[in-house]
Amino acid sequence: MSTAAAVARAIRTIPDFPKPGIQFKDITPVLASPTLTAEAVAALAAPFTEASATKVLGIEARGFILGPLLAQTLDAGFVPVRKENKLPHTTVQASYALEYGTGVIEMHADAITREDRVLIHDDVIATGGTAAAAADLVRSAGGTVVGYSFLLELGFLNGRAQLDDGLPFHSLVHVAE
Ligand code: AMP
Repeated sequence: MSTAAAVARAIRTIPDFPKPGIQFKDITPVLASPTLTAEAVAALAAPFTEASATKVLGIEARGFILGPLLAQTLDAGFVPVRKENKLPHTTVQASYALEYGTGVIEMHADAITREDRVLIHDDVIATGGTAAAAADLVRSAGGTVVGYSFLLELGFLNGRAQLDDGLPFHSLVHVAE
């Protein structure tokens, strides 16, 4: 079985979490297997081995799980992006549209420099709003986004259309519906 097929089989769907109507994609069964986790990280890294990424940016909270492993594999540093008011040092902010209202994410202002080449990672891409805001953060700090990496893409939400910069986009598992 391919790594993508094994990961797809391991991810489980929890209906109506955290609220009615959401089909939550739970990656914890992947993480419970060291072999599958290692294979997943290798498969996430493979498309970006020639990208010369200096940083992998992971989005709170589940981008903090595979993100540092992906960063280590690519010999890059890891940068956490968090929800508002969680990071202790001076931050830069970006906002994005939510179903109701606006979400705000933050990054340490000194986490990315003009020399940095940044791969953006999260476990799941849904509408793409969070990843697009993360790209805004990188660019506002002067860094260069080199691509986007997700374990799972919810294709029916067409989140990749939010990322309209033509950069390499990779999702290990794609669910159409
Ligand atoms: P997005 O709509 O792409 O901005 O996704 C917002 C955040 O919520 C991302 O960090 C995703 O990982 C997470 N997310 C959205 N939908 C789901 C879902 N159905 N299952 C698990 N995580 C999700």
